[in-house]
Amino acid sequence: MSESVAAFMDRVVARSSGETEFHQAVHEVVESVWPALERHAEIRKANVLDRMVEPERVILFRVPWVDDQGVVRVNRGYRVEMNSAIGPYKGGLRFHPSVTLGLLKFLAFEQVYKNALTTLPMGGGKGGSDFDPKGKSDMEVMRFCQSFMSELFRHIGDHTDIPAGDIGVGGREIGFLFGQYKKLSNEFAGVLTGKNVNWGGSLIRPESTGYGTVYFAEEMLKSRDQSISNKTCIVSGSGNVSQFAVENINRLGGKAVTLSDSDGFIYDEDGIDQEKIEWVKELKNVRRGRIREYAEMFGCEYHEGRRPWGVEGAECAFPCATQNELNGEDAKRLLANGVYVVAEGANMPSEPDAIRQFVDQKILYGPGKAANAGGVATSGLEMAQNAGFTTWTRDEVDQRLLKIMVNIHRNCQQTAEEYGTPGNYVNGANIAGFLKVARAMLDQGVV
Ligand code: NDP
Repeated sequence: MSESVAAFMDRVVARSSGETEFHQAVHEVVESVWPALERHAEIRKANVLDRMVEPERVILFRVPWVDDQGVVRVNRGYRVEMNSAIGPYKGGLRFHPSVTLGLLKFLAFEQVYKNALTTLPMGGGKGGSDFDPKGKSDMEVMRFCQSFMSELFRHIGDHTDIPAGDIGVGGREIGFLFGQYKKLSNEFAGVLTGKNVNWGGSLIRPESTGYGTVYFAEEMLKSRDQSISNKTCIVSGSGNVSQFAVENINRLGGKAVTLSDSDGFIYDEDGIDQEKIEWVKELKNVRRGRIREYAEMFGCEYHEGRRPWGVEGAECAFPCATQNELNGEDAKRLLANGVYVVAEGANMPSEPDAIRQFVDQKILYGPGKAANAGGVATSGLEMAQNAGFTTWTRDEVDQRLLKIMVNIHRNCQQTAEEYGTPGNYVNGANIAGFLKVARAMLDQGVV
């Protein structure tokens, strides 16, 4: 090939300066797919990779709203519509003060390949705002969501772009966003996923990302004739993904011993059983409290300002909080302590140095775009139920989710082998996702 990965990346960085998470995500994919590009002259010739790193469309807008004191506040809203080669844009909305265009471009880029792996017809997008729901009243969150949707509604639609939740956007926010969409468009459409089951949501959608990540870990373990049963697991975060990762670890007979938030982590040596995780759901989703209260309630250790990766005696780790929450030092500690399964519920939680160590040590490492794809897959199942005016039972959705995770695992495993790197799920996920989207782009011409 005439160009190197480094030269390609230099061009990407020059065109998107300061967007560090986006550069990190692109670099990981480009490094993996380079051998596939070498094999496929037709994809090279059509300059598919150059087109993939450029969003099809970016929408950026002002979100003014009035707080409880009557003060006018202004946030910034975004939607990055990255790639629609295999279906309408699909991906979550994130409300967090750290949200920037670069952060959302990284998430939208990852989403494209993740969605391709699910086998469902969904393109990739991501959006959100630098609005911080923490410490806001329900009425403030409602007014913000209504203002946000007052602009976004003209850009989305059930065959165009279907947002969902992400950090800071759960059932409450999806409800307010949907209400405003319906009012403005005068249409009850399946335009958002993660809806309440009473009005068009799917059973198991809230559970699906966490459940799916644990199913993926179970599949990786099966490849070594093992299972999660009786294994001790370190979990980070305490939001949607973490809560249901712990629940599924329990269902499969494992033991989760940690949870965290941005203030610190709890270590419960006895295990976070179902009763305790129900208490965490109430703490985080209703009372919106801090994880330190768990230690006060159940009398276990709380470590302020620290992350859980140094905990000893575990075999599995599930980073489920946020990007770049696990660095090279953390990885060294995990490996030294005997962890040999890492399944990412969060998007890009491991820094490149950590990933290198996991891959070099040949542990069972499931990158986010494969391991956490169960969330968007079940959003796809919600869309299918909405389109068919039907609802499926809990068990039916759970079985479909399991089947999807088994297929994603097999696809990653087979693709990694095909490209001479058996057991390397990073290469498997990136190449399999890339080839599916690239072939669709070839079919559709230069658009
Ligand atoms: P939630 O908002 O429900 O929970 C996020 C959790 O992560 C909270 O415990 C939060 O703590 C913690 N957290 C957030 N930012 C930071 C930070 N900068 N440092 C330390 N802790 C932090 O979000 P989700 O559970 O939905 O999402 C978690 C991850 O999973 C994200 O990476 C998301 O992109 C990914 N994901 C989510 C999917 C979904 O369906 N929801 C689908 C696929 C991936 P605090 O309350 O202190 O902020």
